[in-house]
Amino acid sequence: MGFFDSIKKFKHQLDQVESTVYSGKQSLLEVYEINAKLEAEIAARTRELDRANRQMLTLQHIWDMMNSSKPLSSVLNAIVNSLQGELGYVYSFIIKEKADNDGTYLQVVASSGNDLDLKFFERFNCNVSDFRMGFPEISELKDAVKDNKIYKSVNLKELICGFVPELDIQKVEEFLKTSHMKSYIMVPLMSKQTHFGSLLVFSSRETVSDSELNFLSLFAKQIELAITIADLFEAVKQQAITDGMTGLYNRRYFEEFIKKEAIRANRQNTKFTVIGLDLDHLKQINDTYGHNYGDIAIKAIAEVLKNNARSIDVAARMGGEEFNILLPGVDSAGGCIAAERIRKAIEAVKLDKIGNITASLGVATYLEHSDDIEELLEITDRAMYESKRNGRNRVTIARPAYETSWQEIAVNTFVDILTKHRIPVDDSTSRLLTKKLEEMNINNEKLYQVADALVSTYNPEHIQGSVKKKVELASLLAKRFDLAKDTIDKLKIAVLLYDIGNTMLPKEVLRKTEPLTDEDKASIMQHPVIAAREILKPISNISDVIPIIEKHHENWNGTGYPAKLSGEQIPIESQIILILDAYFALLEKRPYREAMSKDDAIEQIQQDINQKWSEKLAQEFIGIIRNESD
Ligand code: GH3
Ligand code: MG
Repeated sequence: MGFFDSIKKFKHQLDQVESTVYSGKQSLLEVYEINAKLEAEIAARTRELDRANRQMLTLQHIWDMMNSSKPLSSVLNAIVNSLQGELGYVYSFIIKEKADNDGTYLQVVASSGNDLDLKFFERFNCNVSDFRMGFPEISELKDAVKDNKIYKSVNLKELICGFVPELDIQKVEEFLKTSHMKSYIMVPLMSKQTHFGSLLVFSSRETVSDSELNFLSLFAKQIELAITIADLFEAVKQQAITDGMTGLYNRRYFEEFIKKEAIRANRQNTKFTVIGLDLDHLKQINDTYGHNYGDIAIKAIAEVLKNNARSIDVAARMGGEEFNILLPGVDSAGGCIAAERIRKAIEAVKLDKIGNITASLGVATYLEHSDDIEELLEITDRAMYESKRNGRNRVTIARPAYETSWQEIAVNTFVDILTKHRIPVDDSTSRLLTKKLEEMNINNEKLYQVADALVSTYNPEHIQGSVKKKVELASLLAKRFDLAKDTIDKLKIAVLLYDIGNTMLPKEVLRKTEPLTDEDKASIMQHPVIAAREILKPISNISDVIPIIEKHHENWNGTGYPAKLSGEQIPIESQIILILDAYFALLEKRPYREAMSKDDAIEQIQQDINQKWSEKLAQEFIGIIRNESD
């Protein structure tokens, strides 16, 4: 600061001062030179991008030197803040020009102006970011940007009102009076030969020396370089085919490779096998020894895979602790041998502190278990989970998708919902239920127990055992309507899941004793949709079940929700769930009424004929429950 005051005072010494400024900034010039060299290096590397992905490491190194591991925004923030420190500007910003459907606008991408924000708020009672900033209509400024030249001016009012024309001019004047800003300098920023934004600084001085301007363009270069590197880094990352932590191929490469391999397999009528592998109890390793040791275990698996793969095999880290190995030309028998060899090799690894590790594996073969890649990966995953359920540290061969029982799909769905925390069930319940599911033999009563337990989390009056009854009744009813076996299977899964959306409803609403408000009703009416769209949608193998659930509150006379469907527009599976759900709800106590007897519930079902359900459905249903023993 004092520096520039002297510039003013001793104009005749300007040359001398300038040289001092230069020598004072020597170190920065050196940085600049290094940066310029790096820039040349990067430009050369970019040309090679298509050919090799090895460069990633090089660029990563450069990026590290540029102060990285941090996102671009914080690099830019560091740059504008350092600028303020260097030359004592009042504020500095990087603004970017953006476009959307409503046209172009300006966005502040880095700023040193927290304090300015506060002052602005005090004066205008709103934030700068509340406005859509536009490029000021100042022709000299526009020309300067176009010609890629620095622009300086003392007309701050014109600039600010140019950015935000909505501001009250008088207030802007008052604001400027109380601020230390005297002038501004705008430096255009270029990246890959195109103008993309500007560096904007507000100075407490009215005059600007040439050396200062030079210095600012130097800074602008640094910003441009950071942005160029960030863009390049992004591009390289996009092209990367290996996983940084293990050196194995990454998911993207695997997904590309398997597509090509499938085409080749179809053409040459050969098979290939996929082994899916998941490290056992990684969470426990992380929790006991720390994340670093978890990483060590993951890397150890990667080493085993590298050592056990033939040169044509593709071993990939799919994410976290999941690996896939693709074995071209190998059938399921060969795949099982390879998987077993890998399993043994992992079991034999001895790690510091952790000791032994194990993994669970699943094996599936293209053109043997499935001729569809997505399905193949899904059944590989399912086989891997079966290994987990049966005690881990084992290999399971997949069964073709059409042989998978509905119970198995249901179990996998529940495991998925619980382990991926798709519903807000507390941790201990979730762990308990997952354990139950993992322990169970697939055709087991435990599936119903888990479903009962989940319903109980939002419905304290839920009658234990009624889920099983509902599934049995649904199946009987479905047969009366001549539904095919696979349709009935989907219906059974839907019966287990149709109210899962209730787990997302506020507890106060569910337990309310007084009449529900319209808002409460609206929130309850959302649940079929919530269940279908949010919780279950990511689970790929139950996509056919979702529409059944989505429509299970539609009424025969069109008064239901969410789509107000009527009559035959409502799938019969959804109609069956509606009547089952209503009947069992009547047998349960509610905060606003007592539990009904079976006869009263049947009476109610009859009253709702042609309103909620068809006469045929009601008669069939009543026929079945009248006959069953209590
Ligand atoms: P399971 O035998 O059923 O596979 O048990 P698990 O604990 O291995 O599996 P779970 O899916 O419950 O937990 C996986 C954990 O792995 C959770 C996640 O935090 C951790 N994890 C995922 N990726 C990494 C990683 O790169 N490094 C480390 N250290 N942990 C990871
Ligand atoms: Mg695991």
